[in-house]
Order: sequence, then C-alpha cells, then structure tokens
Amino acid sequence: AQAGPGGPICFFDPDLARLAQERHQLETDLRHAIRDGQFVPFFQPLVDLQRGALVGAEVLIRWQHPQRGLVPPNAFIPLAEETGLINDMGRWILESAGRQLAAWQHAGRDLYLSVNVSAHQIPKGLTPDALHELAQRLGFAPASLALEITESILISDVDGAQAWLDAVRARGFRVFLDDFGTGYSSLSYLKRFTVDRLKIDQGFIRDLATNAGDRALVEAVTAIADSFGMQVVAEGVEDAEHVRRLRAMGCHYGQGYFFSPPVPLDAFSEVGRRIPEL
Ligand code: C2E
Ligand code: CA
Ligand code: CA
Ligand code: CA
Repeated sequence: AQAGPGGPICFFDPDLARLAQERHQLETDLRHAIRDGQFVPFFQPLVDLQRGALVGAEVLIRWQHPQRGLVPPNAFIPLAEETGLINDMGRWILESAGRQLAAWQHAGRDLYLSVNVSAHQIPKGLTPDALHELAQRLGFAPASLALEITESILISDVDGAQAWLDAVRARGFRVFLDDFGTGYSSLSYLKRFTVDRLKIDQGFIRDLATNAGDRALVEAVTAIADSFGMQVVAEGVEDAEHVRRLRAMGCHYGQGYFFSPPVPLDAFSEVGRRIPEL
C-alpha cells in the first residue's frame, strides 16, 4: 500500500486479488468446458412411492474438469449465471437430456427426465418454441421432459413467468416447482401458477421421524397438491423410515440417497433392478 498525505490512497489486498484471479480462471475454464463438452449429466432416480417403481430421473450436472476432477454444480452454476454462460450450458444440458429421452423411447423404455432450469434462462433464453423445436428435432415426447423451476422465477417477473409456464405446458412439457417451502412460498402462488408437481425440499423430509411440524407440513402440502390436481415429490429421502411415513401420508413420489445418489448413465441403467421392494 502507498500512503498519501491523507492516509492510504491505494490499497492492495492480496486475498481479494487472489479471489479475483481464481474467479477469472474459473470463468475461462467454464468457457472452455462449454466449447469442449466437459459436462456430464448424472441421473438420480425418481420413484413412485405408492407403486414402488422407478418412473424417471432428475438430471444433475457435473463438470469433468481436466485438472480438478468432478466438480459439483454449486461450485460453478452461480458463476455461470452471473456471466450469462448458463444459457449455453443450459442448452447443452437440455440437448443431452433430449437425446437420452429419444434413445429410451426408441428402445421402448417409458422413463421421463426432469432438468433444472435457472431463472436466468427464462423467459428469453429458453422459449417454449425452442423446447418444441428440440423435441421435434430429437424425436422425444414433450410429456417426457419436465422443467424444474424455483419460486424465484415466479416472483421476479410474475406476468412473464406465467406466460412462459402456460406456453410450456400448452406445448405438452411438464413443470415441477423445485425446493418447495424454502422460498417465499405462498399459497396464492399455487392458485395463480399451475405446475404439475411440487418438490418438497429435503429440509422438511430430514427429520420426519422426530419433527411433528415437518410431518404436518408435508401432509398439508400433499393434500393441497391433490386438491389442485398436482403431485408431490419428496426430496432427500434417505432411509426406510422416510419412505414408510411418506407413503402413509399419501405422498406420491420420492427421490434421495435411499434409492440412489445421482449416478452416470451406465450406473443408472442398473438402478431399476435395485429399487428396494416397498
Ligand atoms: P436441486 O435441484 O435441489 O438438486 C437436489 C440436490 O440434492 C442435488 O445436489 C442432489 O445430489 C442432492 N441430493 C439428492 N438426494 C439427496 C439425499 O437423499 N440427501 C441429501 N442430503 N442430498 C441429496 P447437486 O447434484 O449437488 O446439485 C445441487 C444444485 O445444483 C441443484 O439442487 C440445482 O439447484 C443445481 N443444479 C444441478 N444441476 C443443474 C443444471 O443442470 N442446471 C441448473 N441450472 N442447476 C443445476
Ligand atoms: Ca432440482
Ligand atoms: Ca430441490
Ligand atoms: Ca436447490
């Protein structure tokens, strides 16, 4: 630092400089990753709790970094959103999910996929027409693809979000509301925005056995979903006790480590045979 007459006029913080440098490096790497196709879709099974059957999967992205190995999404999605790279990345993810769906449908496998969509992709980057074009070009049924959105999308631009939702669903795609209960969830949103499923955040599932409040909440959300013609997915299903309680509460679907963590495609193909008898 250099001191002027009135104190330091220039302040150099080595930690800040290092952070800025790391961020810059990450951004550069991310551009290369998109160009070179370093992303890998992982698949986490979605299980029909009432029937005890594998019905689909959520696509969760991983970055196979040439030096750092497998990087989890929380380490790069925020930067991708800030820099706008999420649009290219999101297109790649949808494209690979679509190709997988087309392959399954070609082979007569009746599974669907849900893909996480960032608020930054909506409504402009990811238009209903672009989705429609994708399904046509790759040859998969629109109903086999679900877009997972969060409440933040609904809040940031209410009219735009509603128009987007309606158009996407009119095209035959499904929409799931992710992390339900963690945002500014208000029951009025459910009345206003029609979605196909509510994914109850894992924070409400974790202590289901000991926390009566969480139980009441999951039960109430399931009842509300039923009355609106929606279904409920419990996230973070980690043990047999969770499954038992969720089934008893009439919860429709479950996803979590109890069934399987997110896995690469070849491992996912084995999962169907390993879903425990419910
Ligand atoms: P999310 O959409 O809420 O995904 C669920 C997260 O919970 C995943 O973390 C998953 O691995 C983890 N999980 C699944 N089952 C269990 C369980 O039983 N217990 C616990 N404790 N955790 C479980 P992951 O894969 O690290 O993804 C983190 C977040 O990154 C996702 O949260 C999602 O918001 C975002 N993300 C992942 N893939 C994509 C993508 O392709 N596009 C966008 N925009 N975001 C993505
Ligand atoms: Ca999700
Ligand atoms: Ca979630
Ligand atoms: Ca989340």
